[in-house]
Amino acid sequence: FFLTIEGGEGAGKTTAVDFIKHWMSDRQLAFTETREPGGTQVAEELRALLLGHHGEPLSDITELLMMFAARSQNLFHNILPGLEAGEIVLCDRFTDATYAYQGGGRGLNTQPVETLENLVQGALRPDMTILLDVDPEIGMARAKGRSGELDRIEQEKMDFFIRVRNAYLERARQFPEQFEVIDAGQSLEGVQKQLLDVLERRLGA
Ligand code: C5P
Ligand code: MG
Repeated sequence: FFLTIEGGEGAGKTTAVDFIKHWMSDRQLAFTETREPGGTQVAEELRALLLGHHGEPLSDITELLMMFAARSQNLFHNILPGLEAGEIVLCDRFTDATYAYQGGGRGLNTQPVETLENLVQGALRPDMTILLDVDPEIGMARAKGRSGELDRIEQEKMDFFIRVRNAYLERARQFPEQFEVIDAGQSLEGVQKQLLDVLERRLGA
């Protein structure tokens, strides 16, 4: 079962991933955990380059190709082996993030993203994607409270994050069977209640 978690800045993805891991451990479900961009040594180096890039601006296409290069490594080393072993694979971001950030955020056309998706993944798509949806104003305020993320986030514009959010919501509308959208603007307790409901319904015995 291939489970992916998506959301904008400050949506509470990390907290949700921890909650899901505890839920799976409590039920003694075998799982592999990974994240994107990243998850292998090479993919983590690509991530560092994507986030830092030595101050050298990345073209939108470079960013897109590096995302899929990292994804291919993660698929080869983590995701496909986990799925073949019959485990739940929990991935913090996947290709829907590319549709949201490189597509919606950077304004790349959907078509090259689809072409690379088919090249890199073949027919593989997530069985379920949990989208933590939050107004970027709220998410940014949360994320700014986290040390180290301040500089990077301040470089990027609020309208970029609004486009990212809208692209995620459009993906959810397009693939209603894949997506579970959770209102991440509510309290932590409310989010966890909804998460629990989704997990019991889609993964419960
Ligand atoms: O998941 P996490 O928030 O740690 O991702 C780090 C950053 O990588 C994101 O905040 C986002 O700016 C960037 N990213 C991106 N495109 C993706 C995935 C992540 O721009 N497809
Ligand atoms: Mg996070």
